[in-house]
Amino acid sequence: MTLLAVRGLRTHIPTRRGVLRAVDGIDLSIDAGEIVGLVGESGCGKTMAAYSILGLVPRPAEVVDGEILFQGEDLRGKSPEQLRQLRGSAMSMVFQEPLTALNPLFPVGTQIRDVLLQHQRLSPRAVRERIHELLDHVGIPEPRHVARTYPFQLSGGMRQRVLIAMAIACRPRLVIADEPTTALDTTIQAQILDLLRRLVAEDHIALLLITHDLGVIAEMCRRVYVMYAGQIVEHAPARDLFASSLHPYSDALLRCTPALADPDRELESIEGIVPDMIGPADHCAFADRCLHAVQRCRAEHPELRAVAEARHAACHLAGELAFPQPGQATGRLLPASQTAP
Ligand code: SF4
Repeated sequence: MTLLAVRGLRTHIPTRRGVLRAVDGIDLSIDAGEIVGLVGESGCGKTMAAYSILGLVPRPAEVVDGEILFQGEDLRGKSPEQLRQLRGSAMSMVFQEPLTALNPLFPVGTQIRDVLLQHQRLSPRAVRERIHELLDHVGIPEPRHVARTYPFQLSGGMRQRVLIAMAIACRPRLVIADEPTTALDTTIQAQILDLLRRLVAEDHIALLLITHDLGVIAEMCRRVYVMYAGQIVEHAPARDLFASSLHPYSDALLRCTPALADPDRELESIEGIVPDMIGPADHCAFADRCLHAVQRCRAEHPELRAVAEARHAACHLAGELAFPQPGQATGRLLPASQTAP
């Protein structure tokens, strides 16, 4: 069952130089209990897309067009109070930086309590029990003690677990996790990813995982959306994308990613920077960085279109170009046993 369906979502930011198209007409969907990836470089609009879905867009940015259907209802028709009620109870977010997302002045148990009491009527005793239960559920030892500690007294991994506990406190159907492992070392990253996978399986949560790390996508997701300059440029089953991407930008991202199956391969980088997305969308936003650009790319905007079964790409040459990734189909980034099913 489709839990979230986003259609033609546009979020604009007025600037002195013109309107910045931070999110430029994206479509995406996620089913109940599914893990879907949204991947791209920093500055591609991933976080703004998440904020747009949750009704958290900071002024002067504004959602100007599109539908955000959550459990069949369009969130754009909801009042700020209705959206506030939905956030935390039915959908929630794990923010990028645990240290800044948590309030340094209050013990973590108090911060979880505030989330609970915003959405549920519970006795003080029931709140205490639920806080301890949540901390235990996200793998924090000695939850009674940890509930009384301040964020600065916890390690990065523990803080991330606390944020996840807050996100799932009211049993949401959808969690959007924005770079949940970026600030963590590799071992802790693996533990946090394991935790998210377990919560999805046990609590039947749908997870939209935002990351710039294709290794995380390979490990976690069945489907992936690749985002560039505010637009979805490729949408595919993760396994297919890693076997053979259809968009030059996806291929470029893969070439920047270390491969376990090919450890001697030299890593590449993508020349240039993401464009600022001001001005009309009358050409391919990737044209200045694309090794395959032709004249048409600078004269006509490529729309996202079906190229093969369950595969979409926004490239004039999609279907003519393909980028097989040696070793990728069986887990270029991770051992085959760890890749998404
Ligand atoms: Fe490259 Fe042209 Fe495709 Fe854009 S449309 S990704 S510039 S080949």
